[in-house]
Amino acid sequence: MEKQMTSPQHPATIPPMPQAASIHLQTPISEILVIPTPTRTLLIREGIETAADLLHILPARHEDRRQLTFTGFHPDPNPVCHHLRILSTRLLRFGRSAVFEATTVPASARFSQHQLTLRWFGMPFMQRALAVDMNLIVYGKIKEIKSRLIIDHPDYEILLEEDTDPTAPRIHTGRIVPIYRLRGNLKQKPLRTALWHLLQDLDPSALPNLLPTPKATGEFSGYTRAKAIQTLHHPPDLDTLTQARRYLALEEFYLLQLRLLHHRHQHRLHSGNPQKPPGNLLQSFLQNLPFDLTAAQLRSLNEIRQDMADPIPMNRLLHGDVGSGKTVVALAAMLVAVESGHQAALMAPTQILAEQHYQNAQRWLTPLGLRVSLRTADKRNTGILPVRETDILSVPSDTTCTPKTHDQLPEHLPHILIGTHALLYDRVSLPQLSLAVIDEQHKFGVAQRARLIAQSDTIPDVLVMTATPIPRTLTLTLYGDLDVSTIDERPRERGKIITAVRDSTKLKDITAFLKTQLDEGRQAYIVHPLIEESEKLDASAAITGHATWSKRLKKHHVGLLHGRIDSETKDTVMRKFRDNEIQALVTTTVIEVGVDVPNATVMIIHDAARFGLAQLHQLRGRIGRGTHTSYCILLIDKNDEEARQKLTILEQTSDGFQIAEEDLRRRGPGDLLGSMQSGQAPLRFHELLADTRLLTLARQLATRTLIQDPNLTQPDHALLRPFVLDSLPVRTTLQ
Ligand code: ADP
Ligand code: MG
Repeated sequence: MEKQMTSPQHPATIPPMPQAASIHLQTPISEILVIPTPTRTLLIREGIETAADLLHILPARHEDRRQLTFTGFHPDPNPVCHHLRILSTRLLRFGRSAVFEATTVPASARFSQHQLTLRWFGMPFMQRALAVDMNLIVYGKIKEIKSRLIIDHPDYEILLEEDTDPTAPRIHTGRIVPIYRLRGNLKQKPLRTALWHLLQDLDPSALPNLLPTPKATGEFSGYTRAKAIQTLHHPPDLDTLTQARRYLALEEFYLLQLRLLHHRHQHRLHSGNPQKPPGNLLQSFLQNLPFDLTAAQLRSLNEIRQDMADPIPMNRLLHGDVGSGKTVVALAAMLVAVESGHQAALMAPTQILAEQHYQNAQRWLTPLGLRVSLRTADKRNTGILPVRETDILSVPSDTTCTPKTHDQLPEHLPHILIGTHALLYDRVSLPQLSLAVIDEQHKFGVAQRARLIAQSDTIPDVLVMTATPIPRTLTLTLYGDLDVSTIDERPRERGKIITAVRDSTKLKDITAFLKTQLDEGRQAYIVHPLIEESEKLDASAAITGHATWSKRLKKHHVGLLHGRIDSETKDTVMRKFRDNEIQALVTTTVIEVGVDVPNATVMIIHDAARFGLAQLHQLRGRIGRGTHTSYCILLIDKNDEEARQKLTILEQTSDGFQIAEEDLRRRGPGDLLGSMQSGQAPLRFHELLADTRLLTLARQLATRTLIQDPNLTQPDHALLRPFVLDSLPVRTTLQ
């Protein structure tokens, strides 16, 4: 072992003082000279080309590095901040590896008997950066190793000799410090330095307020956007930080509400078809059903019928837990449109779901004399297809010629068309569309919704169905442009689902139990979690799982389904499972969306704690669809008490709303947003969506703005227009 003492080689340096020039949002990074050249190069390489681009990088979190009063060095799992002086340094070499150590004492001479060692592995060049007698502010976790107190790889900032006042403003220490999510080769310190200088030199007029005048915003009166952004990066204290975050969240919610309210208003301006038939078709349909509608189903159906009878087009969300019976209600609503002499369409997110809806619709509606057809991207379409383009063009498409009952719809047109995205491109089959039902809307974007609607001359009524249990507090925000009907009751005859959290050491018993179920003729899902958003890893976990389970369940057919399987194979596998040619299906979350296999009674979910509660609830809705009792087994790691605690609510209740509220409480609405609103998410401050007060305020402000200026034509509102009218993502508020 070679030992080597080092001596000061370089004077202490801190980043250069900012230049006096003032920076605007469009200033190219290459011209912001206060940012050191290597950092500028890295930024540009990461596509960060202007001041605005850089400002879009927000702190992922903050670290409180203010505490500088010395109370001794103590081992602590939480990082601490100290003002230190270097007593000695040494570089230790072990073969090819090197350890650099700096032994320090508190900067205040009174405490010089206390020692703390700073240690860097594999960074021999540190000996050129740090030298004896230098003053440092250091931040890191102190641990005790062989009776020495050590911080490995601390964050540090060197104090200039003439500036040893630890209370002077600093960037990386001695304050609440922003921590950014890194990308490419950018490192934390240079990025932080760059943003610091940018914010110092940014012309405040570059960040005009988007929210209405201060007096309107109550708790934020006098607050400005410039101040909020400045504070968000470099807050003087934690309360101020909270306020800045809340201000910026309010701004985001305000833009979102403006958009939703504006959209709602536009929709209502159009004329629709008042649809108020005698209701004979609906009567026969309900009478022929093998069950009675639940009270909640009836209530929702009535709300829908009222909307449809009104000349203002319906724009309604039908919201109900998995298995609550939304489809029947949707079909009933479609009959209202059909009996009025129009067409109705149902759009599902996947082919297999479209087929499932199609089978139901055929079973229940063809006996009523209706033409039901299926339109997917697939060749195997059934039902009536439009003949030739020319025939179609001759179909009268204005409301004045609208036939009055379903008998009068031209023979070659289906009364009801069911399909996937393909429906969006089928402009010829739906000239008389008056009701569009969109199932599991979170898989569709708002744009697609708009496109379906744009197909007909008069705006059709729109009914959106979702099975994602959205907490009541959130519906307003996310679906502010829709009226909401909720089915909050399950049909009684459904099989029970027993949910159990088990640790993976019980796998043997679980396998034995699964075998008895399969031997009795039941089927099972075995679910592997999504790993780090990577479809590849995700798939590989499922593939390994498939091999293992195939061995465990020798006698039975085990199928495999994951995101990387092409859609044709996927459909084949799903079909085989539906037809019981496959007994156990190893899968990822691709099965999340509503496939109905009533014979599947067991679901085993690996690493269940990786899922959100709402998602687990959604997943287990795949079982318990027949009359047999079903079992959902949530596997967790042995001794993972946190996981067990989190998941017990699923053992206790099957109320999706209660679970969604709990999920919202635990982790904020990020996932809900992510999976639901492809057109709008993600908001940058979405975790504050749980804050009803902010939401309500945003909605009030947006309402007020739009009453005053419905189309945002006033110059004051020019900045809002791109977000509201052109649907620019709300998170890109800097440009
Ligand atoms: P969702 O789409 O809300 O998940 P579905 O409409 O697919 O639920 O309904 C699930 C199952 O329950 C279907 O097989 C359906 O026929 C049945 N069902 C619907 N409503 C009732 C009811 N009121 N009573 C009994 N069974 C019902
Ligand atoms: Mg469904």
